[in-house]
Amino acid sequence: MEGLDPTTRNSTQKIMQLLFASTNQHKLQEIQKKLGADYQLADLSTVYFRGDLPETHDTLVENAKEKAMFVYEHYGRNCFADDSGLMITALNGAPGVYSARYAGNEKNDEKNIDKVLAEMKGVEDRSAKFVTVIALVLDYTVYTFEGEVHGRILEKRRGTNGFGYDPIFEPEGYNVSFAELSLEEKNQLSHRSRAIDKMLTFLEQFNVFD
Ligand code: IMP
Repeated sequence: MEGLDPTTRNSTQKIMQLLFASTNQHKLQEIQKKLGADYQLADLSTVYFRGDLPETHDTLVENAKEKAMFVYEHYGRNCFADDSGLMITALNGAPGVYSARYAGNEKNDEKNIDKVLAEMKGVEDRSAKFVTVIALVLDYTVYTFEGEVHGRILEKRRGTNGFGYDPIFEPEGYNVSFAELSLEEKNQLSHRSRAIDKMLTFLEQFNVFD
């Protein structure tokens, strides 16, 4: 079974290959940066997949599992997928699992942000959290890992780094938005990074690569 395989850089050092069931280059960059040179991350272009993976459920866990299983079943590759959402307290958890399509099926980041800012105009409670669920498929068994980060929704966009809702999310304890942080800084505290940490701990304990 391919997808999570050790290869060798030289006679002593192993490089772990991981297939990320995604075409999102921002997520890929973040995760590759976090994993460093010991891991080689491949995305769905390696199996010539284009377009959107199915996400037909109303929970992040089920959607992450669905995406990873789709790739496993169609391409016979062990892999992991990520499903993320922004949960805003004053909007009863919206946009939540519908974060990508909050302002319509075109999945437009700018329109999504505009919609959130309009709905949050004048709202006092600005608390929110980002949540990521990672689903890892190893030989037909799925394991999930969750990471979250709390913060608040800004009144207007700040910063140009990152993607998605980053310009309007200020993580707790900071006075900058995610979009004002470098990749390395976002990786110190982000929801995705925390979920990836859990997956890495699991992979090391599982001795997948030995
Ligand atoms: P999905 O996990 O690709 O379905 O993403 C759901 C939505 O959340 C999309 O609109 C993404 O742009 C957004 N999103 C996911 N992760 C992040 C993040 O780390 N920062 C900002 N927005 C994100």
